[in-house]
Amino acid sequence: MLIRIRKENFGYVLFDRHGRTHHFVKTDEVLEDKDRSEIVDFLGKYYAFDTEPEYEILFPPKNALELAAPIALYLEISPMCNLHCQHCYKPVHICKHPLSTQGFKDLIDELSTLGVFEIRFCGNEPTVHPDFFEICRFVQDRQMYLGINTNAHFDSAFQQRLVELGPDFVVVSIDGTEDTHDQIRGAGSYQLAVSFLQALARANIKRRINTVLSSDSLPAVRHIAKLADETGSDVSYLPLRPIGKATSFKKNRALTPELMMAAVNEVMEVRSRYPNVTFLTYFDIYSAKPTYHHSLVLNEPCPARKNGFVTCEGDFYPCDFLRAVGNRFLCGNIAQSGFWKI
Ligand code: SF4
Repeated sequence: MLIRIRKENFGYVLFDRHGRTHHFVKTDEVLEDKDRSEIVDFLGKYYAFDTEPEYEILFPPKNALELAAPIALYLEISPMCNLHCQHCYKPVHICKHPLSTQGFKDLIDELSTLGVFEIRFCGNEPTVHPDFFEICRFVQDRQMYLGINTNAHFDSAFQQRLVELGPDFVVVSIDGTEDTHDQIRGAGSYQLAVSFLQALARANIKRRINTVLSSDSLPAVRHIAKLADETGSDVSYLPLRPIGKATSFKKNRALTPELMMAAVNEVMEVRSRYPNVTFLTYFDIYSAKPTYHHSLVLNEPCPARKNGFVTCEGDFYPCDFLRAVGNRFLCGNIAQSGFWKI
């Protein structure tokens, strides 16, 4: 176990490099003045371990804000996608000036120096970037937690390369049964996604299924839960977001309030039927013990500062979806200012 400890105004953020759990620890104790056994005792209050963990203490530049740096950054490294899904929330906007590979490396380097723990490569489709593996290894070399969101629309040779890369966490998009998924995403895409999920399971790489719930995919909530149970995956059910390019699918398949309640009830049902599966969802309003999306843990530092999203042109937003409302939430461009200044 490697625990990364980041110095903060209020104390420390602890991050389990491989397990991904983090803790915000308010304290006046000064860990850097303690010896190894005292620090291990301190860490034992937050993590269970049989053998002594490795740890490192990170000292980001002083920051008057609540957090010295985000916990995780989502990077849209590619302006392209290999699919044309009917529910895609990505903007129609053509990326005119994508960051170069070196530009992304410079950003990742800076984020590493600031003590950002996790990089997630997300849609468009990150794996179509010509230097995808090179950029991933750059993240791994800096001991950052590497996550990848993918539609898994690639052949078995590419699957194998991706498994051998050894990312810490992979999110695969699957939107229902084979029929539903292929109708939304294109013929053959379901089988590719499921076979990749199975390859991840064989390699014991942490995995999650992301499912967009529309009136088409709602009947498949149980199908997805069963697939997750069989492949040892977590699940995130996400509401259809009517943003991005206009399609008749988005117009007609969004969940009505009644279907939203049906989704809540379905999620409750699969939660009790598959106790070994972690369901991470917004459809959680009845649950006594909801598993929130990490950005929604409300009693800890401001969600908008814990995560962030960088577009392929280097524009920084608190999250991907805020791009849809125009420049109101655009914080700056990292190619022009660097991340720290923003
Ligand atoms: S939803 Fe994802 S996979 Fe589908 S077109 Fe959009 S970015 Fe590509």
